[in-house]
Amino acid sequence: MTKPSTSLPVVALSTTLEKSLSSGHPWIYRDHLPKTAQIEHGAFVELRAGGARAFALYDAESAIALRVFSTRKVPDDEWLRERVELAFRLREPLRRGRTSAYRWIFGEGDQLPGITVDLYGEYAVIVSYASSLERLIAPVAKALTETTKLLGVVRRLPSQEGGARLELVSGRLPPARFVVEEHGARFYAELEKGQKTGLFLDQRENRRFIAAMASGLRVLNLFSYTGGFSVHAALAGASRVVSVDASAGALETAKDNFRLNGLDPDAHGFETADVFAYLQSAISRAERHDIVISDPPSFAKSRAQQADAIKAYKRLNADGLRTLKPEGIYAAGSCTSQVCPDDFRDTLAESARRAKCELQILGDFGQPLDHPVLAQHPEGRYLKFIVGRALKLR
Ligand code: SAH
Repeated sequence: MTKPSTSLPVVALSTTLEKSLSSGHPWIYRDHLPKTAQIEHGAFVELRAGGARAFALYDAESAIALRVFSTRKVPDDEWLRERVELAFRLREPLRRGRTSAYRWIFGEGDQLPGITVDLYGEYAVIVSYASSLERLIAPVAKALTETTKLLGVVRRLPSQEGGARLELVSGRLPPARFVVEEHGARFYAELEKGQKTGLFLDQRENRRFIAAMASGLRVLNLFSYTGGFSVHAALAGASRVVSVDASAGALETAKDNFRLNGLDPDAHGFETADVFAYLQSAISRAERHDIVISDPPSFAKSRAQQADAIKAYKRLNADGLRTLKPEGIYAAGSCTSQVCPDDFRDTLAESARRAKCELQILGDFGQPLDHPVLAQHPEGRYLKFIVGRALKLR
């Protein structure tokens, strides 16, 4: 990175932001900017609010106008390396637990606003969330390679065809697919073709929680993708796991993942279907399972879609609960940040009412240690995963 200039533009903010700034909240929205502020896109500025001071990166395009990096100094190579090394050190428990794919940097939660880095074996994938962050990519990539041995650092960018493409930053590109470990289970990762950066790393601990209860049981995994929950449940001795996803390709990879772990896919079910339609037909066939997992994609990209998302959760989980045997286990996931944990739990109560059962909550989970949330930045929390036992009405 270029040497930080010694005379940064100073932006004076309202004193009402003093507390937020001094506590390290990483975002300042555009409507909090002084009308007269003239700042260059992608430039660092010094912020002042009352007695608080901080250093932030300006973005002319997004609703988040300023990303606050430090109260100490303008992030230089050394400051970035400290963040990268700290985040790596804090993931040691994962590496010890036979896990080779995890989120190395979770943006705001790891004190590096706007940037995530996922590690898959010896390949790191950088994703950045605003064009103003461009200048940080090269120094972050350098810090990654200085922290641990890597074969390649890539960025995942949207492609013109609507999918994603990988762009090489350093080292070499990863193979189209290769094997990583999650708590000792093996999975194919496809960093370019796959969804997210290849795998849904955030459900790791929830998969283990479900697997611990799955021995000898029939499991229905809705929105299975490449079989993350399915493989763990089958490895734990589930008698039959049915994986349902709209993507035929994801289910082919799910079968490959079964074989990769010495499991026979023919002993299990793989259904390419829309989950909502699948549930209707499962209910009419009286198909029943001991454990049902529902881990849908985000239902709301913006605040305007929040009400629809809440409706969709109520309906989805009511139908999911209807495919459960009495005293069966239901696991409801939500990655929609627009629906907060309390509201999501309320939707489940409504689903249980519609399905005429009482849901006895056994676990109410959030994000694992590689997706940390700062207390000062509750916006970083998006994942909900509630596990309950469906009891008959008293
Ligand atoms: N549980 C998965 C991640 C799920 S991601 C894991 O642990 O890895 C959401 C998945 O839902 C994607 O694979 C997507 O293909 C699928 N999907 C989205 N809408 C769907 C629908 N209406 N019916 C079935 N699958 C759907």
